[in-house]
Amino acid sequence: MSNRWGISKHVEDLVRERDLNCVYCGISFISTIPTYKTRPTWEHIVNDVRLRGEDNVALCCGSCNASKGSKLLMDWLKSNYCSTKGITEKSVAMPVKSHLAEK
Ligand SMILES: [Zn+2]
Repeated sequence: MSNRWGISKHVEDLVRERDLNCVYCGISFISTIPTYKTRPTWEHIVNDVRLRGEDNVALCCGSCNASKGSKLLMDWLKSNYCSTKGITEKSVAMPVKSHLAEK
């Protein structure tokens, strides 16, 4: 059983438990009233939908997802959006950091 992004229920559960905050900007999905910008959205950290494990699937807010789009993570981190929000290689959540460390 998988959701519409081809993410298995197992991975979905793991990620939902792990990512209580946007993996990029850190906004809380628990204490923030969900709007188009703050709601949790499914994110492939590396833009490859074949990578569906919990190490590449994460929850990020609608705002970060819209800004990142199909950009490469490293390129996106240099964007105005990230510098305005103070999103850096050091501020992102663990699953994102592990990808940066692989580079
Ligand atoms: Zn965010």
